[in-house]
Amino acid sequence: MSMSSGRGDRERLVVIGGDAAGMSAASQARRMRGPDELEIVAFERGHFSSYSACGIPYWVGGDVPERDRLIARTPQEHRARDIDLRMRTEVTEIDVAGRRVRARDLASGGESWVSYDGLVIATGARPIRPDMPGADAPGVHGVQTLGDGQALLDSLVHTGGRRAVVVGAGYIGVEMAEALINRGYEVTVVNRGSEPMSTLDPDMGRLVHRAMEGLGITMVNDAEVTKLLTGQDGRVRAVATEDAEYPADVVVLGIGVRPETALARAAGLPLGAHGGLLTDLAMRVRGHEEIWAGGDCVEVLNLVSGQEQYVPLGTHANKHGQVIGTNAGGGYATFPGVVGTAVSKVCDLEIARTGLREKDAHRVGLQFETVTIESTSRAGYYPGASPMTVKMLAERRTGRLLGVQIVGREGAAKRVDIAAVALTAGMTVEQMTALDLGYAPPFSPVWDPVLVAARKATSKVRAT
Ligand SMILES: Cc1cc2nc3c(=O)[nH]c(=O)nc-3n(C[C@H](O)[C@H](O)[C@H](O)COP(=O)(O)OP(=O)(O)OC[C@H]3O[C@@H](n4cnc5c(N)ncnc54)[C@H](O)[C@@H]3O)c2cc1C
Repeated sequence: MSMSSGRGDRERLVVIGGDAAGMSAASQARRMRGPDELEIVAFERGHFSSYSACGIPYWVGGDVPERDRLIARTPQEHRARDIDLRMRTEVTEIDVAGRRVRARDLASGGESWVSYDGLVIATGARPIRPDMPGADAPGVHGVQTLGDGQALLDSLVHTGGRRAVVVGAGYIGVEMAEALINRGYEVTVVNRGSEPMSTLDPDMGRLVHRAMEGLGITMVNDAEVTKLLTGQDGRVRAVATEDAEYPADVVVLGIGVRPETALARAAGLPLGAHGGLLTDLAMRVRGHEEIWAGGDCVEVLNLVSGQEQYVPLGTHANKHGQVIGTNAGGGYATFPGVVGTAVSKVCDLEIARTGLREKDAHRVGLQFETVTIESTSRAGYYPGASPMTVKMLAERRTGRLLGVQIVGREGAAKRVDIAAVALTAGMTVEQMTALDLGYAPPFSPVWDPVLVAARKATSKVRAT
């Protein structure tokens, strides 16, 4: 960053957003440059800094006993590291030409302009709220922030209801279904798609569907919610679709997020097709030497498809922050892109994916073969072996690995990391068959399920 602004002897880095991406960037910049050289001012409009939203389902479900375990670093801890983190302060405007931001203290309403030499935009994502009657009624909850999680827990504890409806069957929806089951609720999941987990191909989503029903969850697919019905007390009492009503003492919304880029848009910064900020490999906003952006407010390059994609995940937000902080601190780092790896679980069912689904590969014009194999998590004779399904996509003719999806129980989710590494390395399925993976009967069959799929995919590619 060129930070020779001549505003005193210290340069100033301003960070918008006090969670994963923003505070990783601030912390790394501080590691790179001491307070004598670099002043760091961070603005967070919420009540919490550096917390794990990823842990909310496990806190609500009772696996994590208390909220504060999800907070990695408090505002006081950041301030002790010479980061001037200003909580409950919202940035309302970015003046790119003037290199300054306008900040509003949400308690007092007071506004001031703060100049910067370098700026980090880490404003995250905004959850989609359905625009329909009843969407804001008491008993209807999002789970985006710790405050949302607390409100949901209060609702569960104080209303003593027994029936919960989750709207949306992406990973947050299925994780919340588990949390509510753990709290003793009868759970219905209402899903617009034909199967849960649309990040999988529908044939693999069907396995999740069946397993969720096996766990006692009622799955309603192909259903569009039309309104949320309220009782005389104003609280939600049911979720209505075009065809039916599902009684609910509590409703959890998990219908996705959009990049929080209103500020960036108003400032004229470049946005992509998905509404996220566009950056270069150093996480610099394209065309702006002194502005970086990372986390849920940016689009990322998918290394398999070669296309920009919106992948709002904490794993990327933390890496972006590290790269931004290194560069803002005068070092050099890049974020090359993602291969699309994601894991989640509902009770003991583990769900994993990486790379491209069939429809992604079609969309970018790749021709491919698919194989689906059934195997087990441990040697078949070893106690506790459980079934595992692996689907693999390989490019026609070249045999390059394009994607893997795994549904199973113990050990299914993290097995996908083998495929994530293979995708990153650009391996063919034939090269994968020779991978020297660990084997002992308690951990896998002698041919790991991923290798069985790679062998079968190799034969199929050779035959075409
Ligand atoms: C329930 C749930 C479960 C999840 N599970 C996983 C998981 O298992 N694995 C995974 O990889 N990811 C998971 N995620 C996603 C992960 O939490 C996000 O990708 C991550 O938090 C993104 O970090 P971020 O810093 O980009 O954005 P955020 O965490 O959204 O932080 C952005 C911050 O900026 C603040 N802000 C925005 N605008 C302004 C402004 N104008 N002025 C001041 N402050 C502002 C916001 O208040 C917010 O605190 C989960 C998310 C949720 C909600």
